[in-house]
Amino acid sequence: MKILLRGMVLPMTGADVFYRDGEIAIEGDRILSVGERGSAPAGFEPDRILDYPDDVFMPGLINTHTHAAMTLLRSYADDLPLMPWLETKVWPFEEKLTDEDIYWGTALALCEMIRSGTTTMLDMYASMDQVAEAALKAGTRAVISRGLIGNGPNGRKALAENIELIQRYHKAGEGRIRVMFGPHAPYTCSGDFLQEVKAEADRHGVGIHIHVAETQDEIKIIHDQYGKTPVEWLDGLGLFGGQVVAAHCVHLTEKDMEILASKGVAVAHNPESNMKLNSGTAPIPELRARGITVGLGTDGASSNNNLDLFGEMRSAAFQQKLKAGPTALPAYEVLEMATIGGAKALGLEEVGMLAPGFKADLISINLDQPHFYPRFSIPAHLVYSAHAGDVRTVIVDGKILMEERKLLTLDEKRICQEVEERAKRIEGELA
Ligand SMILES: [Zn+2]
Repeated sequence: MKILLRGMVLPMTGADVFYRDGEIAIEGDRILSVGERGSAPAGFEPDRILDYPDDVFMPGLINTHTHAAMTLLRSYADDLPLMPWLETKVWPFEEKLTDEDIYWGTALALCEMIRSGTTTMLDMYASMDQVAEAALKAGTRAVISRGLIGNGPNGRKALAENIELIQRYHKAGEGRIRVMFGPHAPYTCSGDFLQEVKAEADRHGVGIHIHVAETQDEIKIIHDQYGKTPVEWLDGLGLFGGQVVAAHCVHLTEKDMEILASKGVAVAHNPESNMKLNSGTAPIPELRARGITVGLGTDGASSNNNLDLFGEMRSAAFQQKLKAGPTALPAYEVLEMATIGGAKALGLEEVGMLAPGFKADLISINLDQPHFYPRFSIPAHLVYSAHAGDVRTVIVDGKILMEERKLLTLDEKRICQEVEERAKRIEGELA
């Protein structure tokens, strides 16, 4: 299929690159050309033309840390301290989840992600075959990791499942699905277990996705146990060096940041979850100044409570400005984190920018609305004014997943009903 897109284009290939009257040609799963109107190659005959002069086309957003199926727990428990929230609410609920529940919960997350312009997610949860199937059905890109509680009774079984997941789904769906290992956190896995995970990741040539330095409690636990920071401890185990996505990294020392920079560890920043759970403010400008790759994530829906990366972008900027002043983390840098930064963090070299030869993963945002006038700065509009409902078009791998806000691959109504019924069933089982 050949598609010609016309409108404004923000390709994210440089802060000064913007086409006010632009054009993008797509052939199959790839971008053929990006430029001013009339720049498509001579003789290009599109099957479809989407002509939206008041829309801006940009790369699809990349959610670098989530637990998609936790949509099932959205609004089940809020406004609680972290440990009672987990121990009395989240964990008992999760124990009741079936494979099918996780399929439908993930499908709901994917509806919401497509609607808010997210084309790729990095997920960590259980029953990951179901997550892969939901992403294949949705047509989005997904990097999936089995959450591994190494110290729990199912640690070894989960590790075996993560390995099977690679064999079954790594590079499935024309390469849209990728697999990583998902050791949960330094305080839920032993050193031996983490070293085994690292050996398996190297053996299979896949990355590692782990929560790191999320809360002060974690810093204290690891310090009491090993006399080190979580980053120092993980580095000492040899966990870093390959593709590693460290989610949160809220509490870091100077030395930690040096380690992350020298080992090429990427950080998934989740400002709304960090604010809601009162975890703290991650040192994002400091990480970026050291050349560390930073992506944006929503974390699970029960600590956010939505999966809207537009909201996350705004929160990321505001949280830093509150801490360090109004010049901290300007709009274009936030857009970089949500696009090319996320792609680099996940090791996806062909997405995150609109450029010839890149995969056709892109979205359009309808700027013909009161909150986008006047149009002095498109990056400022996208970060400070836009929200999920402004996304008109979503394309992944050259296929249209949402057109005129209608989802084309998922039965949204049925998915909402299934999740409502399943969540209520579990609530009943716990009553
Ligand atoms: Zn998380």
